[in-house]
Amino acid sequence: MSDCLFCKIIAGDIPSSKVYEDEMLYAFRDINPMAPVHVLVVPKTHIPSADDVNAENSAYVAKIFEAIPKIAASEGLTGGYRVITNCGEDGCQSVKHLHFHILGGKKLPDQLG
Ligand code: AMP
Ligand code: ZN
Repeated sequence: MSDCLFCKIIAGDIPSSKVYEDEMLYAFRDINPMAPVHVLVVPKTHIPSADDVNAENSAYVAKIFEAIPKIAASEGLTGGYRVITNCGEDGCQSVKHLHFHILGGKKLPDQLG
């Protein structure tokens, strides 16, 4: 999608700090990190949110979840980590391209704000 921030990042039209990439996904550092490690993992196709995952595109999500342990290991997250996807208005999703936050590198708070 031409007006999507993360599609532009995937295309290289907007710079990003790449962590990992393969044919189906792109992982890069969040510009406003909420933990010592804060990586975003996105499918290389425009899926708006978790609410739009279906039988046609769920292979992207499976690939992302196969990559997450590798990314976590490469980032040294031996003590664990958190994977989050915000969805829609009530979920406070700000970028409307499906993405999974990997957060770690410290003991994370156990409560939602
Ligand atoms: P969400 O609120 O779940 O939609 O998350 C969007 C995330 O994208 C936020 O954590 C932002 O800090 C992050 N973000 C926005 N613009 C950029 C960018 N240009 N490069 C990297 N991360 C970004
Ligand atoms: Zn997009």
